[in-house]
Amino acid sequence: MTQNPGKPASPADLRALDIFEFAQSGRQAAGGVRVSQLPRMLNEVPSDAPDRDTVFTWQAEGSTQPELQDNGIEAPQPYLRLAVHGSVWIECQRCLSPYSQHLDVDATYRIVATEEEADEYPLDDDEVEVIVGSRQFDLVDLIEEELLLSLPLVPKHDVCPEVHESLVSGVEGAEGEPDEGLQNGGEGASAGDEPARPNPFAALEKLKQGGPGDKKH
Ligand SMILES: [Zn+2]
Repeated sequence: MTQNPGKPASPADLRALDIFEFAQSGRQAAGGVRVSQLPRMLNEVPSDAPDRDTVFTWQAEGSTQPELQDNGIEAPQPYLRLAVHGSVWIECQRCLSPYSQHLDVDATYRIVATEEEADEYPLDDDEVEVIVGSRQFDLVDLIEEELLLSLPLVPKHDVCPEVHESLVSGVEGAEGEPDEGLQNGGEGASAGDEPARPNPFAALEKLKQGGPGDKKH
């Protein structure tokens, strides 16, 4: 094998990219990635979506910026800029039908060599994230991670399509409560449910009072 590890850009290399070389040489790469290549993203796509395998376009650009090191000497440090654009079908939390959500990612990363270095890196800049680089860096995984992070917290249509009359009353009656229960998780949900549920002992009490019969009347 005489493959030059310093030459990335074929699709296979995107899962094993020499990210340090990519940055130091100021390389650029671009392409498309399908949702079917992103298993965690695909999980978010409802089975009744019109298209479960949409395509995201991405661009990556390596660069270096001079930084003062611990020894007081300035040295070029590796950076990566990543942009991803596209749409994915996800489920609207309001009407529960699938809709197409546009996602934009534009992130800049300072590439460090180790987890320790990442932990120590001063996060004085909101614009720059820190990632641990590798000579076999999985760029597709980074793209997927960023797309997942860019999903709306509560995905929903700007304006939901008209719901059939027969469904409206049901939707209205249930609105809010089930969602809140889900979001609160275990403890919150059970505590919140308590007051709404008829108290069986109160009911029993009523029976006892009513049962022996109308003494007070
Ligand atoms: Zn909707």
